[in-house]
Amino acid sequence: MASIIEQTRVDVALGNRILANEGILDAFGHVSIRNPTNPNRYFLSRSRSPELVEPGDVLEYDLDSNPVKSTKERLYAERVIHGEMYKARPDVMAVVHHHAPAVMPFVIAGVELQPVMHLGAVIGPKVPFWDQYDEFGDTNLLLVKPEEGASLARALGQAPLVLMKGHGATVVGSNVQELVFRTIYSCRNAEYQFLAKMLGNVSTLRPGEVEKSAQIHSMPTSSFRTWEYWTTRLEKAGNGLRARRSGKKPVGASRKRASVAKAKAKKVKGRKR
Ligand SMILES: [Zn+2]
Repeated sequence: MASIIEQTRVDVALGNRILANEGILDAFGHVSIRNPTNPNRYFLSRSRSPELVEPGDVLEYDLDSNPVKSTKERLYAERVIHGEMYKARPDVMAVVHHHAPAVMPFVIAGVELQPVMHLGAVIGPKVPFWDQYDEFGDTNLLLVKPEEGASLARALGQAPLVLMKGHGATVVGSNVQELVFRTIYSCRNAEYQFLAKMLGNVSTLRPGEVEKSAQIHSMPTSSFRTWEYWTTRLEKAGNGLRARRSGKKPVGASRKRASVAKAKAKKVKGRKR
């Protein structure tokens, strides 16, 4: 049986791959999970597109977002988002930062994202909106300084997600399954709100409806059912970790394995001469 740390590395890879498969993450964005045995550390991939992340890519960081073991791998520039969220919210066990197409119109137009359907209650009654310019003036919009990550965490407060002006969103969860659930349904909610606006007036959920719906969605059965569904879709798309292990061509072979294969090929070639 896999150790809890091995399983966490697998879950980081799966969280990334599922959200890429569902159109939330593309070449950019990243999922992390807090170390279940040490709350002062978290796991995040080396700099790699989410769809390609493998358990072996996942590194451990301290909450200042420095890798625990020195590495020559390239790291995500925006990893401070994760470290600062874990510092500010002891209840948070998983974080994703994304630039999903569904939320981009909202962060560009500055229109409030509101819960418009029962599954959309995952966004809570009020979604905070953060503008990096307010505290930091002109920047390249990437969050690379700890103080920028801390500012975002303050804006998040106790909410499940925060929108980031002209950039994207950051979502938190009490485990990776809840995180993925919130991320996918907050994006669906954004799509429906946008489309409904084209038809006419948008009616939003009442605060009591948000609260009652959120109680249902936070039940483990919701997370279990959706996680099974999304991992199955990932397997069917040929990019699951099980498909990779059973010998199907991986979408992202690790560099290490690729270089070993290359070296072997060279050796064989050499012998023929
Ligand atoms: Zn970003």
